[in-house]
Amino acid sequence: MTAPALRVLAVASEAYPLVKTGGLADVVGALPAALAAAGVETRTLLPGYPAVLKALAGAAPVNAWPAFFGGAARLLAGRAGALDLFALDAPHLYDRPGNPYIGPDGADWPDNALRFAALARAGADVARGALAAWRPDVVHAHDWQAALLPAYLRYGPTPAPRSVVTVHNLAFQGQFPRALLASLGLPEASFAIDGVEYYGAIGFLKAGLQLADAITTVSPTYALEIQGPEAGMGLDGLLRTRSGALHGILNGVDVDVWNPQTDRRIAATYAPRAMRRRVQNRTALQRRLRLEEDDGALLIGVVSRLSWQKGLDLLLECLPTLFEEGAQLALLGAGDADLESAYRSAASSHPGRVGLFIGYDEDLAHLVQAGADALLVPSRFEPCGLTQLCALRYGAVPIVARVGGLADTIVDANEMALAAGVATGVQFAPGSAARLSDALRRAAALHCDRAVWSRLQTNGMNADVSWTRPARRYVEIYRRLARNEPLT
Ligand code: ADP
Repeated sequence: MTAPALRVLAVASEAYPLVKTGGLADVVGALPAALAAAGVETRTLLPGYPAVLKALAGAAPVNAWPAFFGGAARLLAGRAGALDLFALDAPHLYDRPGNPYIGPDGADWPDNALRFAALARAGADVARGALAAWRPDVVHAHDWQAALLPAYLRYGPTPAPRSVVTVHNLAFQGQFPRALLASLGLPEASFAIDGVEYYGAIGFLKAGLQLADAITTVSPTYALEIQGPEAGMGLDGLLRTRSGALHGILNGVDVDVWNPQTDRRIAATYAPRAMRRRVQNRTALQRRLRLEEDDGALLIGVVSRLSWQKGLDLLLECLPTLFEEGAQLALLGAGDADLESAYRSAASSHPGRVGLFIGYDEDLAHLVQAGADALLVPSRFEPCGLTQLCALRYGAVPIVARVGGLADTIVDANEMALAAGVATGVQFAPGSAARLSDALRRAAALHCDRAVWSRLQTNGMNADVSWTRPARRYVEIYRRLARNEPLT
């Protein structure tokens, strides 16, 4: 007899392909299918944003709350693509167009504390058995937007299932004024150092890290880094005290969405053995971004949020090196206004050498991976990073800062790794334009040696970046939690 499926309730504020602002959505969208293959049944609770409700049109309500964080709410259940979903239909909280966190004025929605506390609270209600037909064995909350969930379990009636919180980026913590405690439905007793209190305020992520039964983050190196003061961002002390419950599990990528052999978003599909076809994507990318159709140039791609974290201010300083090496830049990104305008002016001063698309464009992201010779990720910190994994799969050689998940996923083309035939990219010390310039020079030199470069490409394309291995690690944690076994 096969063991009964383990039931997991995942709770998150975004999931590809319905709503995505970054890697969190990729993970939440892809992990359930990999878990299903390992005998875990996942249902994912999302806020009922317009795009989510549209995908669940006609779905049956399975629960209702007449008064829920300032209005009536319902829980809808249904399937959208490969995901079994619950949507928290609460128009007073989520019926807003555009970015899930930010209003039209560019500032966070003023009621974000209530919007995401409601998400966590709905998850806690389902966890405790609000739905007779489906009750999870384990709850999995992602990032600060869901991280209040263990607090609702801890300060509510028992019994409740055990929980795991995943940190996708410790830089986003969700801190709100203490005065909101009652409106979040939390008791006074929760406002304590071993509860939700964080430097005199309410810390959503802090609460989750304090109260979850297990904590995961998205790479082994980041799991170590966040226990130190620099990357710990105020939470390193707490993470050190919980280090026995903290696990670093690398992300995978959805190998069906990111597959150069079948990808309909690129100009020409290709297999590792037919790399000559890749050139058609290179030309298509050059045309799309009005770059010179220069066959010999090292074409460096970037697909990124434009923010301090991603180190793209450093790349601006390195543009002279890039031009000296005869390289071209194809950048797809959006974010900080200062960086957007700096890149716009770089593109207008260097027509044909700097190609730019400011904005969010899923199709172009695929074309950059399929057409660029190298993909640059110069982050100051990077919990896991997904674009370098996609690059491996598409034969774009990653040039990455040696930090977080970038350090864990790319094998630097040093002498030893080249001799052993295992190198997949170029690594450099993070946070310095001088080091980034050196890395660009090194990449250009490697690119001149066709045999070495194509070995880097092949090694990358043969690397396993799927969810299969990471999913097994999550399953192990879920099973231990469900059986009340220790985690280490
Ligand atoms: P983060 O989550 O910190 O933004 P990740 O590397 O983990 O960084 O994930 C970024 C995801 O968002 C990748 O799937 C990447 O392809 C995508 N992405 C980032 N910027 C853009 C953009 N401007 N257009 C399309 N996709 C983008």
